[in-house]
Amino acid sequence: MEFISTRGRSPAVSPSEAILNGLAPDGGLYIPVSLPKIDRSFVEELCPLGYAERAARVLSLYLTDYSYSELLEYARAAYSRFEDPENAAPTRRLSDDTYVLELYHGPTCAFKDMALTLLPHLLTAAMRKNGISDKVMILVATSGDTGKAALAGFADVPGTAITVFYPEDGVSTVQKLQMITQSGENVAVFAVKGNFDDAQNGVKRIFSDGACAERLKSKAVRLSSANSINWGRLVPQIVYYISAYCDLLNSKTAEWGTEVDFCVPTGNFGNILAAFYAKKSGLPIGRLICASNENDVLTEFLTTGRYNRLREFKKTSSPSMDILISSNVERLLAELTGHDGEAVFEMMRSLSEKGSYVVPEEVFAAMRGNFAAGSTDDAGTYQAIRDAFGLGWLSDTHTGVALKVLEDLRKREGSRRLTVVASTASPYKFAVDVNAALAGEKARRTADEGISALDRLSRDTGTVIPAPLSGLDTREKRFTVSVNPEDMLSALEGAL
Ligand SMILES: *Cc1c(COP(=O)(O)O)cnc(C)c1O
Repeated sequence: MEFISTRGRSPAVSPSEAILNGLAPDGGLYIPVSLPKIDRSFVEELCPLGYAERAARVLSLYLTDYSYSELLEYARAAYSRFEDPENAAPTRRLSDDTYVLELYHGPTCAFKDMALTLLPHLLTAAMRKNGISDKVMILVATSGDTGKAALAGFADVPGTAITVFYPEDGVSTVQKLQMITQSGENVAVFAVKGNFDDAQNGVKRIFSDGACAERLKSKAVRLSSANSINWGRLVPQIVYYISAYCDLLNSKTAEWGTEVDFCVPTGNFGNILAAFYAKKSGLPIGRLICASNENDVLTEFLTTGRYNRLREFKKTSSPSMDILISSNVERLLAELTGHDGEAVFEMMRSLSEKGSYVVPEEVFAAMRGNFAAGSTDDAGTYQAIRDAFGLGWLSDTHTGVALKVLEDLRKREGSRRLTVVASTASPYKFAVDVNAALAGEKARRTADEGISALDRLSRDTGTVIPAPLSGLDTREKRFTVSVNPEDMLSALEGAL
């Protein structure tokens, strides 16, 4: 299987090269030229298997220059780090027509673990396959969750190192503790004196610094990123949609062919795009419901065909979805234009020059045929958390957004279709807001209560703090250095 750029101006590459390169040379994102077919017998054969086996079989459809046994080894290594390796992404029943797919049982309690535990294996194998013996240094600027998940994924993986920069006053106490207590001989974490943009711009400067690249090359090191535009982060996410369908078949909730809707709390559009690829490959998915918080740029896009990033940025109780430019939309545009690289290029140029673009009529029609969309505010999110708790299930804020958007849609349409809601984080990662929601508050709590919020959530709900988040304050704080934005490069080189 070959991969091409969404912008159509780069040569086709193998799956391992797509993972190695991350971004295509023309600035586009890699997409498969054609998709494998998922049919009834393929899915039914997955049903009796554990998660790692399901993953290896699905991955081998999309990563044709990796062998099945290789993929199985990587998937076992990745998902052995989950709470229940056989059932790494369990599907739970909320009501007759609503299920949740729990994607947060990995080492950092957020759904990014599903891909970031596997990516280091895919990436180091891609280097071997392409004859590269350099060490890879992963460079991440983070506003919270991605940094920790990447640290946990790459920690002590041979042939790799990772450096994470986070804004000194821009992450929660829990997120900061998670990062600065990270174990591993190949990891480094720095606070940046500034906000997230300062950290992100510093990382971008390092990536575009030719002299730095030369110095690193002489030490046999190459820089890479772990962000969600890499195909190696997208493909592990296709797995769990198919796995969820197996779970519904196993529990006799669905039979083969039953159309299941998926509702996904969306930020950078990676998670929901993986569901779109599963649907395009033949999984019987009805439609994909894209749920946004008050940063509702995607709701507007999917319901009007116009993407407009020129709007006020809002800080919400679901910070991992506080995004105005959802990079993976570019892949959707490529798929819905029939891989028309010129058309995608023009839309992306309009987005960066004018801040907006409008999709052609037929693309809009295809969007409407595959997607529904909605958004909600913090009060709606809190209401959904209370309602879910009434059904016996504790939800985080991001999943709360999805649950609320789903219920609003069902009310508007006057019908209730079988739907699986992707649940993207442990409620304990956003304990301050979950506590406030359960206490009946409507407005978002902004005070950072540190780790006492976790104890309170546990006490008030009779649930257990997940192991990766318990005792965070008693662990050794390994990384306590803060740097000015202009000193990020020397911090990185010092870490080598
Ligand atoms: C990253 C993240 C999201 C958004 O996922 P995308 O793939 O960027 O759309 C939603 N919820 C949580 C908890 C996340 O960490």
